[in-house]
Amino acid sequence: MQTATAYVNAVYEKACQKDTEQKEFLQALKEFFDTITPVLAQHPQLIEENILERLIEPERIYQFRVPWTDDQGKVQVNRGFRVQYNATIGPYKGGLRFHPSVNQSIMKFLGFEQTFKNCLTGLPIGGGKGGSDFDPKGKSDREVMRFCQSFMTELQKYIGPDQDVPAGDIGVGSREIGYLFGQYKKINSYQAGVITGKPIPMGGSLGRTEATGYGLVYFANEMLKEANQSFKGQRVVVSGSGNVAIYAIKKVHELGGTVIACSDSNGYIFDKNGIDVATLKQVKEVERKRLTAYLEKNPKATYHEGNVWQLEANFTIALPCATQNEIDEVAAKHILAKGVFAVVEGANMPSDLAAIACYHEAGILYGPSKAANAGGVAVSALEMSQNNLRLSWTLEEVDEKLKEIMKTIFLTCRNTAKAYGVAGNYLSGANIASFLKIAEAMVAQGV
Ligand code: GLU
Repeated sequence: MQTATAYVNAVYEKACQKDTEQKEFLQALKEFFDTITPVLAQHPQLIEENILERLIEPERIYQFRVPWTDDQGKVQVNRGFRVQYNATIGPYKGGLRFHPSVNQSIMKFLGFEQTFKNCLTGLPIGGGKGGSDFDPKGKSDREVMRFCQSFMTELQKYIGPDQDVPAGDIGVGSREIGYLFGQYKKINSYQAGVITGKPIPMGGSLGRTEATGYGLVYFANEMLKEANQSFKGQRVVVSGSGNVAIYAIKKVHELGGTVIACSDSNGYIFDKNGIDVATLKQVKEVERKRLTAYLEKNPKATYHEGNVWQLEANFTIALPCATQNEIDEVAAKHILAKGVFAVVEGANMPSDLAAIACYHEAGILYGPSKAANAGGVAVSALEMSQNNLRLSWTLEEVDEKLKEIMKTIFLTCRNTAKAYGVAGNYLSGANIASFLKIAEAMVAQGV
């Protein structure tokens, strides 16, 4: 029989030939394959089952036209996607991303990651992802509404509370979810559990908005505790300034750390006394402006063009919450030189493969996105539970459950890594634990 290494290499080579152009997707595969090769060596029946080829092929991909009319009356056309990746342990679940960079490679890498992330939550949800190359930036509310209505007119054919449950991601917040759900209801009936991240009066869950950022910091806190450390007195940099970043900053401050910088796609603000969350929320969520507007309200801060991971000041913890591949090898070396001893990921796949290799080589703490940012989708699953039960939990109840889930995910990663001889490697722990559970279920369901 083929050795595990030969099998994994053959599957990876085949994927490279099939999907040559899909570099983000192939990157996600590579990261995953590198960590599970030793596991396959111990479970040869999974090689017999050709489990990897079955796992990396999405069950289904929809691509569709999204025509809409702008405020000038001109017809615009965007491309929509829904990747239904894997429904072995529950209905497809995962966000919608509206961003000009969206293409099939990005949708597939996100769907692949989502499958394992969702498994790690311990809740019965499979993996999916969707979105469009539509850019909500600079669009009026009405334009966003018309786009969302057109997008949902097509998407509604493929989703359902027990089938596929979308939510938000980059460029899709509660405004967009409101419009999307509004359109779904117009065409179908009121089925609350068909989408999550809903505005509270439409059946949303308290704590969903905060969940990814808070969950990230709860997970990071468990990692720090394990290393006899805490957030107290730490100087933290959070990239991004969207929903994940805002609530990560808030929670870091609550736990006694200071977030000295955050960013948007043009540059970053440096505020050595700590980013003021109320100002940040006002600028980004209410006024929907660029980060430079933060300075008008907070003149003591400074604004710098370029990548926040080139920051001059020293800091100890990095929480990348912007987007994929924001930390490359150069950035990773830079932050290590600045004194960073922990990188915990709020965005999906924010570190490229070379950056991850740098973390491992330096022996710093590394919390991979599929484990560390699972709080968002976990509370989405709690929103589905509340919708099905037709009741609402208090913010305290949801937050308590979130804390418990993040702790359990951490323990799963820690204990699995230990059991497979790679103690402290939370990436391996996350990949191995979720892989084994999904693989077992896929074998059980038959070919
Ligand atoms: N987009 C988020 C993620 O990457 C949340 C998905 C959801 O709530 O379904 O996990």
